[in-house]
Amino acid sequence: MTNPLLTPSTLPCELPDFAAIQPQHFPEAFEAAMAADLAAVKTVVECQEPPTLADTLEVLEREGLFLDRVESVFFTLTSSHLTDDMQELYEQMAPRLSQHRADVTMNRDLYDRVVAVSPDGLSPTEQRVLAEYTRWFERSGVLLEEADQTRLREINDRLSALSIRYSTQLVRENERASVHVTDRARLKGLSEAAINAAKRAAEDAGHSDGHLLSLAAFTTQPVLRELHDRALRQEIHQAAMDRGRGPDGATGPLPTRSTVDLRPIAAEVAELRAEQAHLLGYTSHDDLVMSQAAAGSPSNVQDMLAQVAEPAVRNAVAEREALQELQDEPLAAWDWPFLAERTASDSPETTLDVRDYLELYAVVEDGLFHTARELFGLEFTKRRDLKGYLPEVEVYECQRAETGETLGLMVADWWTRPTKSGGAWMGTLVHQNHLGAQKPVITVNTNFVSPQPGQPKLLTVAEVTTLFHEFGHVLHGLLSDVHFPSFAGTKVARDVVEFPSQVYEMWVLHPDVLPRYARHHRTGEQLPEEIADRLREADTQGQGFATVEYLAATAIDLAWHERTHTDPAPDLETFDQDAMTTAGLDVDGVDPRYTSATFKHIFAGGYAAGYYSYLWSEIIDAAAVEWFNTNGGLSRSTGDRFASTILSRGNEADPMDGVRELLGGDPDMQPLLQRRGLLS
Ligand SMILES: [Zn+2]
Repeated sequence: MTNPLLTPSTLPCELPDFAAIQPQHFPEAFEAAMAADLAAVKTVVECQEPPTLADTLEVLEREGLFLDRVESVFFTLTSSHLTDDMQELYEQMAPRLSQHRADVTMNRDLYDRVVAVSPDGLSPTEQRVLAEYTRWFERSGVLLEEADQTRLREINDRLSALSIRYSTQLVRENERASVHVTDRARLKGLSEAAINAAKRAAEDAGHSDGHLLSLAAFTTQPVLRELHDRALRQEIHQAAMDRGRGPDGATGPLPTRSTVDLRPIAAEVAELRAEQAHLLGYTSHDDLVMSQAAAGSPSNVQDMLAQVAEPAVRNAVAEREALQELQDEPLAAWDWPFLAERTASDSPETTLDVRDYLELYAVVEDGLFHTARELFGLEFTKRRDLKGYLPEVEVYECQRAETGETLGLMVADWWTRPTKSGGAWMGTLVHQNHLGAQKPVITVNTNFVSPQPGQPKLLTVAEVTTLFHEFGHVLHGLLSDVHFPSFAGTKVARDVVEFPSQVYEMWVLHPDVLPRYARHHRTGEQLPEEIADRLREADTQGQGFATVEYLAATAIDLAWHERTHTDPAPDLETFDQDAMTTAGLDVDGVDPRYTSATFKHIFAGGYAAGYYSYLWSEIIDAAAVEWFNTNGGLSRSTGDRFASTILSRGNEADPMDGVRELLGGDPDMQPLLQRRGLLS
């Protein structure tokens, strides 16, 4: 049988033919694609004519589509369905791919040819693309002496191996941390659906009885909001904190279930990154990263964080004092979410169960798709004839309502499984581009526990918010309108990529959107307006805690990545606490959103020295929400303007120029501070 990865798929929008793709197809396809890439480099380098964009970058981009295709399918599977076969291939292919990238970006002849392209007569887009390519080459070390290049390659190989080890060990640590409960009475506070899911999780994990509570990736577990049993809450919180700290790293009175200490891996990663930055002429890794990002420099990031930290701590302390009134024992980290839930405006105990009104497919079809229709004139239709990588994965076609023109596909994978990474994310199977006349195929992933057969999937408001957030990324991919595939959709600087998705969260509780999808799953009755108002009010509560736990993780990220290559080895036992104390983020009962032992974003996820990005882009987000609200809200005119300035341009223009065009100037911090209740 021929290898289906060797040629573009003939399915609509080149949707990969998952029914035909087997893990054993990847090595051959990768080798062929990398060979095609190197052949393209040779063509460019050996060309005797004066270099133009057409015979340099266009060649690289066009011939690179093959590797892009194989990688896109491969990394979709390693994130969403990492079987043992794929895991083995992942460990085998990752160093090969990292070597290959270095072979291309460290090729001095190729670089010389590209920088010799005359900018005269190039459009602003083409000039931007040329400048970005030049930066990529230089950041990869193309201008270094051979010995330094060799060292840089060693560092890259080692970093790639370490990040795989960190993330795979973290998945296992997370499994080990699941809490097994034999006495059902201890689950008081959980919904019937959650208890059933925990029962099935226990069965799946091979327990003969009881319930298994598996943990979310971040520290403060959502289930702490609901469980009445204080000792059980403490056990869950300690299990979450113990992850990745090894057999001697218990953080509380109970024995730890952790078997691997991930912190030495974290320290080695940070050390190698500091050396890498030094070789490339930067003082530290955060300097290297931020000078290329919208933030521009570490000091700009520090200034932004400093403006937020003090009022956030003040608010968190006030929240803490209010909650302490509710119990006699000193308030602990595992009490905070539970007590906050008791006082929240949307608490299930003070109102009806909102989840009964938030059914997954109603949210998707009458919430997400409704906003896409009103804002951008898009129609989504389920394509039952098109298949994903598993039977439960669904494919939707996206068309322009006026013309019927197909814009692309959305591949939706809502369900959790042991082979899937935690959290929620958008991914790409095919990048939109005019060069290869390709339409986008975008994936969207969440980790919802599937309901029992015949039962509806009911969501929390937080889960609905996640859906709108990820759908914002999906639209960034689908509405992309660029020439070069490497510049499509979300391929923009990390500290602006979150902004369109954060903006999209504004529609969750919007009066023109919520009533459309929030209907009782049995009676069809609309969510009472009074409850909707309480949800909007609850949206502004608990912001002190949320901001401090986020800032604490940001402080840990920066503490690792502001280190220089000559700094002495850090003390792993006190590292996180020291980082938080230095940043003035010490609040009793608030633990960092991620610790050095659970921080996949920065040690295995491309967010190194970049966790600040969420807040940075929230500044733009809050300003853009204000713009939407004062310019027509949910309408075609606001949507089209947002698409033309932001969503369509990818990285072919500076995204901050698009932001300034939309807002009529630089975003200021006021709307963000107001939203988070941080104005004094
Ligand atoms: Zn996001």
